[in-house]
This record gives sequence, structure tokens and C-alpha cells, in this order.
Amino acid sequence: MSDVVTFDFHVTSECSQQCAYCWGPQGIAEVDTEMAFAIISKIAEGGSRRIVFTGGDPLQRGDIGLLIRHAAQLDLEVAVSTTGDLLTAPFLAASGGDIDLISLPLDGSTEEVSVRTKEPGHFAVVMAALDLLEGYPEIDVKVATPVTRHNIEDIPDIVELLEHRAGRLPGRLFYNVFQAFPRSMSPDVPWPKLVVEDVAFDALRRQIEGESHGFRINFLDHKTLDKLYVMIFPDGTVTVPVGSEFRNYGPFLEVDDLSELLAGSEFDAPKHQRHSVGWSRSP
Ligand code: SF4
Repeated sequence: MSDVVTFDFHVTSECSQQCAYCWGPQGIAEVDTEMAFAIISKIAEGGSRRIVFTGGDPLQRGDIGLLIRHAAQLDLEVAVSTTGDLLTAPFLAASGGDIDLISLPLDGSTEEVSVRTKEPGHFAVVMAALDLLEGYPEIDVKVATPVTRHNIEDIPDIVELLEHRAGRLPGRLFYNVFQAFPRSMSPDVPWPKLVVEDVAFDALRRQIEGESHGFRINFLDHKTLDKLYVMIFPDGTVTVPVGSEFRNYGPFLEVDDLSELLAGSEFDAPKHQRHSVGWSRSP
């Protein structure tokens, strides 16, 4: 078993959204299909359990169905983290059988709140995606909200909205509540206008955790989120995000000893492994 239970493969930088707090790669060229296949194979051969296709929006890649199929055929658990804009009935009909979990971002319980950080219409896009996923009992659904100063007061309303949705979804529903993290490839992010203080996020957590809900809610604060991920960037390089930095370790396909590489990074493997228990098909 690899130290890395879950690899986040950011297959593209392309995205329909322009979130100010975006933590994804920006303006980075993509490996071709053949190299993406080789990366997925190496992840599986290394003993990792799960791959998250993310971005940008991974559905912006024309070959995403092929990449998903390749990962599924190698017995990796497959998660797809998408904005939802391109999550269509034809896509799900073609690839739904290869996907274990779909993750959707939701920045508000209404269009009015959502549009503060997402493009107009994104709220309706996510609601339509949740409607579609009602036809896929084998796919778990994760809704994720980056908590910012723009939506912190709206989180209880998102939870209420999801209570209604949970009863309609045939698979499992998870809700991940992130404390937006001040790390971005953009140089001019107005972090003080976005980031909520630890004390405010903890108060929100206590409020929500003090209630009973029909689905699992995970809170991810700054301390949890830091040094948690191993990312493969669109150009095939390995990146470990630490604090405000994206630390890059070169082409993944040229890594001979991943354990050695990670031991020399600040990747927190025990925390990563504990966190990975939060969603899995396996015990
Ligand atoms: S939806 Fe995700 S990848 Fe796209 S801009 Fe927003 S944070 Fe970045």
C-alpha cells in the first residue's frame, strides 16, 4: 500500500468558473492521453486506492471518459470533481458506470449567494446535476462548499437544502465544508476579503455539529487542509501544497521512489490516511 491513498490528478487548468479563492492549477499545459494513461497506471501500480479527476474542470477534457475508464479498469476507486456545467445525461450514460463519486461545488443556498463567488447560473447547474444523479444509485455524491466571508452565514441554509436533497438521492451524500485556504497561483487574490478566521469557522462547525443531519458533514479547517494532498498537475508533475506554496517535484513518471520523495517533502501521510477514511467503497 502506498503512503498516498488518494491522488488528485488535475487533468486540466480549464474551468468555466473564476473563483477568487481557486486552489487549482492555472495556465498549465496538459499531458496528452497517452501520458495521462501512463500516470494513471503508475498510480495504480504504486498501490494507491483512489484517484480524483479534478482540475480546473476535468470534464473540459475531451478524453476524460477514456481516462476514467482506464482508472476503473485498473480497479482504482474513481472520483470526479467537476463544476457540473458539463455533467450531462450523455456523459453519465457513457461514464457513470465507471465512477464511484462525483463532487460538486456549491457556494450558496441560492443564486444570490452563489453568484458572489461563482459565475451567474452556477447554482442552477448544481441543482440540475443533483437531479441527474438521482438516476445513479451507484454513484456517491459529495457537495463541497469553500467557506468565505461571502457565504459563512449561508452555510446552515445550504445544510437545510441538502437535507431535502439527501432524501431524493439513492446513493450516499457527503457534505464537505472547507475553510477557504489562502493559496492560489494567482498573485493578486484579496485574501482578507475572502478568508474567514479560525474562530468563526470553529463556531460554525460547533453550530452545525450540534444538530442532527441525515448525511455526513466533514469540516476541513486550515490546519486539516495543509500538507494533506498529493497533486498531479496537468503537465504531469507532482506537487505537494504546503502553506501558501505549491511545491513542485517534477514529472511523476520520472519518480523512482515516491516514498523517498514524500519523506523529503512536508506531506503529512498519517493525516492524509486518516482523512481518506472519510469516503471509501472499501473497509
Ligand atoms: S470551480 Fe474549482 S477549479 Fe474552477 S475556478 Fe473555481 S475553484 Fe478553481
